[in-house]
Amino acid sequence: MRIILFGPPGSGKGTQSAYLAMRAKIPLIATGDTLRAAVLAKSPLGCQVKRVMESGELVSDQLIVKLMLERLAQPDCRRGFLLDGFPRTRVQANSLKDNNIVIDYVVELVVAQSSLLKRLTGRLVHPVSGRVYHAEYNPPKRQGLDNLTGEPLIKRKDDCEETVYKRLQIYHKQTEPLTAYYQNCRQRGDAQAPCYLRVDGDGDIEQVSQRLGRGLGIAN
Ligand code: ADP
Ligand code: ADP
Repeated sequence: MRIILFGPPGSGKGTQSAYLAMRAKIPLIATGDTLRAAVLAKSPLGCQVKRVMESGELVSDQLIVKLMLERLAQPDCRRGFLLDGFPRTRVQANSLKDNNIVIDYVVELVVAQSSLLKRLTGRLVHPVSGRVYHAEYNPPKRQGLDNLTGEPLIKRKDDCEETVYKRLQIYHKQTEPLTAYYQNCRQRGDAQAPCYLRVDGDGDIEQVSQRLGRGLGIAN
């Protein structure tokens, strides 16, 4: 199963994707987590993208496409993968097509804009694992600490209100048009058009997880 998980920042992609990938027995490839790990490790890639990520802008297509094509060529992707955070631009979507990477499902998580703001400004993350919490909606067992390791949680620099607005604008301008692109693949006569699913991402985390499982035909 080759799946693209779409949705604006804060729609719950990170929260849902690890469990979904585990249930579908496919690797999860989350571009944001990969880039943040590089920043944390102060690798050359991390140094290159740190400032852009903190400002809420997208890193360059050239850089992200190279990174993703290398990742998708790894043997563990032969039986499928779940993409969280890629593609985000038309150039990135074209890179999949041009390299004959066929997608089976495009899943869009749909969430009201007012919920997105509350979710993002209250988000807490465990930087090493990428595990996500929310101060109110999904609090850790011990305040400010990761459930599994007990290590401190942090607020992402790009989750401040001003940068959140900017990221949502970038999503609407650059990424949202891809939803129409994928929805219309079949009408354009593309024999390998993916199945397009719109899933309601409002409601509690468990409900959304069940909707995703039902839509993809994966047992919870
Ligand atoms: P994305 O990866 O799409 O940016 P996240 O999965 O990181 O989104 O979720 C953003 C924030 O919203 C996190 O703080 C998370 O705990 C919270 N969240 C995720 N799903 C829900 C939900 N269904 N209801 C309430 N809060 C949620
Ligand atoms: P969210 O789901 O909350 O929007 P991510 O964790 O997916 O955020 O991404 C965080 C940041 O990483 C983005 O704002 C951007 O700077 C960078 N990034 C992630 N994926 C891509 C991509 N496909 N293209 C360009 N930049 C990306």
